[in-house]
Amino acid sequence: MCEKLVIDTARIDEKGETFEGEVDCVDIDETYVKPFGGVRYRLYVQVFGKEVLAKGHLEQDFDLVCSRCGKDFDTTVKVDDFLASLELGDGGTEVDLTDEVRQSVLLELPAYPVCDEACEGLAEAAEEPQDERWNALDALKDVR
Ligand SMILES: [Zn+2]
Repeated sequence: MCEKLVIDTARIDEKGETFEGEVDCVDIDETYVKPFGGVRYRLYVQVFGKEVLAKGHLEQDFDLVCSRCGKDFDTTVKVDDFLASLELGDGGTEVDLTDEVRQSVLLELPAYPVCDEACEGLAEAAEEPQDERWNALDALKDVR
């Protein structure tokens, strides 16, 4: 079950207030993308009449599969400039930030995750010596 990040603005004064915690709301379950733990958030929330502004920092740990070598690796996706603006319903004091938080984290996921920038990929490394074009280059080197 997905947790929700609901903030009650009733106790927030005009200066705003910082909210910190963890909410387990990234509930995707794909073969190559597995979140673990919850989203750690630190958000500064301000209320302007009926508008609620939340900005701050999000972090979510993921177990991803390297697009080069196919190995599992752990990484932390960070959102440094999270910003959401929501409107309070009539008479309501609560805003639900769950969807905004989830979407921001998913947008920061790398399209082609790599376990390490230096990763050369297992499949490619194994194929190279069998590629005849490389043999041709080696032969040129020997001549010189
Ligand atoms: Zn890799």
